[in-house]
Amino acid sequence: MSKQGCKGCSASVHLSVEDIYEVIKGAEANLQEDLVEEDVYRMRLEICQKCPELLYNTTCKYSGYIVYVLARDKKASCQHPGQQMW
Ligand code: SF4
Repeated sequence: MSKQGCKGCSASVHLSVEDIYEVIKGAEANLQEDLVEEDVYRMRLEICQKCPELLYNTTCKYSGYIVYVLARDKKASCQHPGQQMW
Protein backbone atom coordinates (compact mmCIF):
# COMPACT_ATOMS: atom_id res chain seq x y z
CA MET A 1 0.00 0.00 0.00
CA SER A 2 1.37 3.37 -0.94
CA LYS A 3 1.62 5.99 1.79
CA GLN A 4 -0.51 8.93 0.81
CA GLY A 5 0.46 12.25 2.28
CA CYS A 6 -1.10 15.64 2.72
CA LYS A 7 -0.60 17.89 -0.33
CA GLY A 8 0.60 20.71 1.92
CA CYS A 9 3.16 18.76 3.92
CA SER A 10 4.65 15.33 4.31
CA ALA A 11 2.35 14.20 7.13
CA SER A 12 0.21 11.13 6.57
CA VAL A 13 -3.51 11.71 6.11
CA HIS A 14 -4.28 8.30 7.63
CA LEU A 15 -5.05 8.32 11.34
CA SER A 16 -4.72 5.39 13.68
CA VAL A 17 -7.58 4.42 16.00
CA GLU A 18 -5.50 5.77 18.87
CA ASP A 19 -5.02 9.12 17.10
CA ILE A 20 -8.74 9.40 16.40
CA TYR A 21 -9.58 8.55 20.01
CA GLU A 22 -7.26 11.28 21.26
CA VAL A 23 -8.75 13.84 18.85
CA ILE A 24 -12.30 12.92 19.93
CA LYS A 25 -11.46 13.13 23.63
CA GLY A 26 -9.86 16.55 23.12
CA ALA A 27 -12.87 17.81 21.17
CA GLU A 28 -15.30 16.49 23.79
CA ALA A 29 -13.41 18.32 26.51
CA ASN A 30 -13.70 21.55 24.52
CA LEU A 31 -17.33 21.14 23.42
CA GLN A 32 -18.84 20.11 26.79
CA GLU A 33 -22.44 21.44 26.70
CA ASP A 34 -22.35 21.52 22.89
CA LEU A 35 -22.04 17.73 22.61
CA VAL A 36 -24.90 15.95 20.83
CA GLU A 37 -26.68 13.02 22.46
CA GLU A 38 -25.23 9.58 21.77
CA ASP A 39 -28.11 8.50 19.48
CA VAL A 40 -27.73 11.63 17.35
CA TYR A 41 -23.97 11.09 17.18
CA ARG A 42 -24.40 7.50 15.99
CA MET A 43 -27.01 8.51 13.40
CA ARG A 44 -24.72 11.21 12.01
CA LEU A 45 -21.77 8.83 11.85
CA GLU A 46 -23.83 6.17 10.07
CA ILE A 47 -24.66 8.73 7.39
CA CYS A 48 -21.04 9.85 7.04
CA GLN A 49 -19.80 6.25 6.87
CA LYS A 50 -22.09 5.60 3.87
CA CYS A 51 -21.22 8.91 2.19
CA PRO A 52 -19.02 8.73 -0.93
CA GLU A 53 -17.39 11.98 0.16
CA LEU A 54 -15.82 10.42 3.26
CA LEU A 55 -12.05 10.12 2.75
CA TYR A 56 -9.80 7.57 4.48
CA ASN A 57 -12.83 6.49 6.59
CA THR A 58 -12.24 9.55 8.74
CA THR A 59 -12.38 12.86 6.90
CA CYS A 60 -15.10 14.83 5.14
CA LYS A 61 -13.94 15.78 1.65
CA TYR A 62 -15.74 19.11 1.76
CA SER A 63 -14.75 20.45 5.14
CA GLY A 64 -11.57 18.55 5.93
CA TYR A 65 -13.00 17.78 9.37
CA ILE A 66 -12.65 14.41 11.02
CA VAL A 67 -16.28 13.32 11.02
CA TYR A 68 -15.97 11.61 14.43
CA VAL A 69 -15.39 15.10 15.84
CA LEU A 70 -17.68 17.06 13.52
CA ALA A 71 -20.66 14.80 14.28
CA ARG A 72 -20.19 15.29 18.03
CA ASP A 73 -20.75 19.06 17.82
CA LYS A 74 -24.35 20.20 18.41
CA LYS A 75 -23.79 23.28 16.23
CA ALA A 76 -22.23 21.37 13.32
CA SER A 77 -23.98 20.19 10.19
CA CYS A 78 -23.16 18.06 7.17
CA GLN A 79 -20.76 19.94 4.94
CA HIS A 80 -22.05 18.67 1.60
CA PRO A 81 -22.74 21.68 -0.62
CA GLY A 82 -26.39 21.78 -1.65
CA GLN A 83 -27.23 18.35 -0.18
CA GLN A 84 -26.95 18.53 3.58
CA MET A 85 -27.44 15.00 4.90
CA TRP A 86 -27.64 15.74 8.63
S1 SF4 B 1 -20.36 15.68 6.63
FE1 SF4 B 1 -21.78 15.26 4.94
S2 SF4 B 1 -20.53 15.42 3.06
FE2 SF4 B 1 -19.11 15.18 4.80
S3 SF4 B 1 -18.75 12.97 4.94
FE3 SF4 B 1 -20.44 13.44 6.35
S4 SF4 B 1 -22.32 13.08 5.14
FE4 SF4 B 1 -20.58 13.25 3.69
